[in-house]
Amino acid sequence: MSETGFLLPDPEDPDNAPFWAATARGELRVQRCIGCGRRRMPPRPMCPGCRSLEHDWEKLSGRATIWSFVVPHPPLLPAYAELAPYNVIIVALDEDPTIRLVGNLVASADGSIGEIDSETIQIGEAVRVVFSPLGDVHLPRWVRG
Ligand SMILES: [Zn+2]
Repeated sequence: MSETGFLLPDPEDPDNAPFWAATARGELRVQRCIGCGRRRMPPRPMCPGCRSLEHDWEKLSGRATIWSFVVPHPPLLPAYAELAPYNVIIVALDEDPTIRLVGNLVASADGSIGEIDSETIQIGEAVRVVFSPLGDVHLPRWVRG
């Protein structure tokens, strides 16, 4: 856990560092196998399809649809309890719906994860990525449209 009180990823992790370097530049990138073209997330050294170790980081549009969501209930960690009720969404990326990312639906990049009325969230809604600076990372979050 970081000094923010939030559970945050380690941007220095060797497999994940290129992902977090991209989000810091305002880009959503996923690993893509050079051998077979398959995208993969979370990042890892070897392609599960063809076992190639060669890969690049494809820049995506940042467009996605809401695949599922939850509204977490107590008990929550203190940093999260202050923001409750809030949403956690799973999005399927437009370029590759088999890749799903966990995040939050917000009104803007600097918005709170509790500012969207969860009753209004619809599975299948179109969303696009924004990047919220938090601790040492820029977290992908999602806005409508
Ligand atoms: Zn492959």
